[in-house]
This record gives sequence, structure tokens and C-alpha cells, in this order.
Amino acid sequence: MPVAETELDYGSPYELLVAVILSAQCTDKRVNIITPNFLKSFPTSEVLAEAELEHVFELIKSCSYPNNKAKNLIGMAMVLEDEFKGVVPSDVDELQKMPGVGRKTANVVASVYYKKPAMAVDTHVFRVSARLGLTTKAKTPLAAEMQLVKYIPEEHINISHHWLILHGRYVCVARKPKCKACGLTDICNYFKKNPL
Ligand code: SF4
Repeated sequence: MPVAETELDYGSPYELLVAVILSAQCTDKRVNIITPNFLKSFPTSEVLAEAELEHVFELIKSCSYPNNKAKNLIGMAMVLEDEFKGVVPSDVDELQKMPGVGRKTANVVASVYYKKPAMAVDTHVFRVSARLGLTTKAKTPLAAEMQLVKYIPEEHINISHHWLILHGRYVCVARKPKCKACGLTDICNYFKKNPL
């Protein structure tokens, strides 16, 4: 994965936060279609905090769970304005004080924008880590995160997140991993048990 970076389009941390909230259970491609118009109407958290729910819903209705996400986006903007004066925090715990921002979203913002050694564990990272053997018997994303940050050298955590996501999205796909096209067969636990 020579270019290992997020596939979401964003300029500022606020824009990244909006995109990551929208991306839950939705493709980055779909989110990138939605965000330009959304940001025309709501270019800052100050504007979004005052938004009508119906207006936000209208602009994001082509993504999954638009009702919940519309509420969360407005709630996020309100907390961002009230508690953080419109400045997106870089701390994972502070980020999680905003509606719609769970641990994964917080880790993405901390890692992608602020370049912190945070490991956001989504479905791809969870699956690929387990198959490769980077995690052992991790039952939850948090358990996987703890194992990954324990063993991956700190300077590689940031880029590893993107490597694992992209590998899971394009090669080690959920149903039928493309082991024939994979360069990691010689170190992969799953492959050792399921050779071609
Ligand atoms: S060898 Fe197969 S299972 Fe292992 S990481 Fe590669 S694609 Fe995934």
C-alpha cells in the first residue's frame, strides 16, 4: 500500500470530524459525494450548531442512518462550540465528549489530523489483525486496539492503521480474502491454516 492515507476528503479538523461521523457504516466514496454540499451549507461548527435537523437530514440522506447522524452532527457542533470554543481537541477522551464520536472516530481524528500514535480499530483493522496474528483472541475492538498499540512500535502505529484498513478494504476482504494477490502469505496465521 504505497499511498497509505485516509480516503476521506477533508481540509480542517472540523471537516474531518464531519466526514468520519458520516462514514460509520457508509463508504468513503459516498461520504466524499456528500461533504462538499454539506460544507457549503455548514462550513463551521458555529453554523452547524444552529442548524435545523431537517436541513441537515436533507443534505446527508443518501448515507446510512441519516436521522441519527443528523442529530449527532448538530450535537457534535454544539458541544464543540460550547466546550471547546470551536477548536477540535486532539485528545481521544475529550473528542469522545461529543455526540456521534466514539472511540474509533476519536482515534481516527487524533491519528489522521493530529498525527498521534492512535489506533482506530474498525471492522477491517479488527479482521486483518486477527487473521495475520497481530492480535490474539481479541473479542472487542478495544481489546484489539490495546494489543496493537502494545506491540507495534509507536512510530509505526499511525501508518499501520492505514495499512491495515487498506489491506482489508482491497486485499484481505471479509468474505473471501484475496490470498493469491497478497504479499503477506508467509507471515499470515490464517493462510497457514487455510493455504490455497
Ligand atoms: S494471506 Fe490471505 S488472509 Fe492472510 S493477510 Fe493476506 S489476504 Fe489476508
